[in-house]
Amino acid sequence: MTEQPPVVELCGISLTYPGPPPVTALRPVDLIVRRGEFVTVTGPSGAGKSSFLNLVGLLDMQTSGSYLLDGIDTGALCDRDRTALRGRLIGFVFQSFHLLPYRTAMENVALALVYRKQKRTERMERAREALVRVGLEHRIDALPTTLSGGERQRVAIARAVVSNPSLLLCDEPTGNLDTRTASSVLSLLEELNSVGLTIVVITHDLAVARRGSRSLEIRDGQMSEQAITW
Ligand code: ADP
Ligand code: MG
Repeated sequence: MTEQPPVVELCGISLTYPGPPPVTALRPVDLIVRRGEFVTVTGPSGAGKSSFLNLVGLLDMQTSGSYLLDGIDTGALCDRDRTALRGRLIGFVFQSFHLLPYRTAMENVALALVYRKQKRTERMERAREALVRVGLEHRIDALPTTLSGGERQRVAIARAVVSNPSLLLCDEPTGNLDTRTASSVLSLLEELNSVGLTIVVITHDLAVARRGSRSLEIRDGQMSEQAITW
């Protein structure tokens, strides 16, 4: 089988928050994530997991090293181009779903496309398709407050994938869900991965980490590859 191209290529990447006092959140690391991988990142609270995700998600800027996303050297970009690249290539899913309370599920998803040069009807159609993909066709017009936690996270996942990103980044996506709901949200992520989506999931939960095909661990800002023993 031919090797898939890298989506994420980190070379000597580190992150120190300036403070004061300065905090080293991520020590220098080299890492390649290839298209189609499902990577989980574990580690105790405060280890640097979210810092890593924010860096890969272009929400934060490294202190040293280089970061190529889909072959593009992100360090060379101005703020506007970084933001545009993030919007085009990356989808985010967070622990607390971040849905707009007075917008329907479909509107929440369609808002992710608002910066595209697409007609409203076209955006709505794509939002509908994304909600079908996550199994919520029957809840398209529901407000987030009327949805269960698992359903809200599905809406958030639909919103994250509606623009066909190269990379889906999830920070503790099951942190607010009970075990059974968490498992079904993970099944959804596996399904999206099986049709080619590259996924990185941050979790402190080993049961979640087991669902990935590759596992990394961060301790005290130091990232290392984990041999998969499950
Ligand atoms: P995790 O997600 O693994 O719990 P974080 O990446 O959030 O860990 O945090 C790693 C370290 O960086 C912690 O010591 C945290 O206090 C610190 N940190 C996180 N964000 C900031 C920030 N914006 N400014 C300063 N320190 C931060
Ligand atoms: Mg965190």
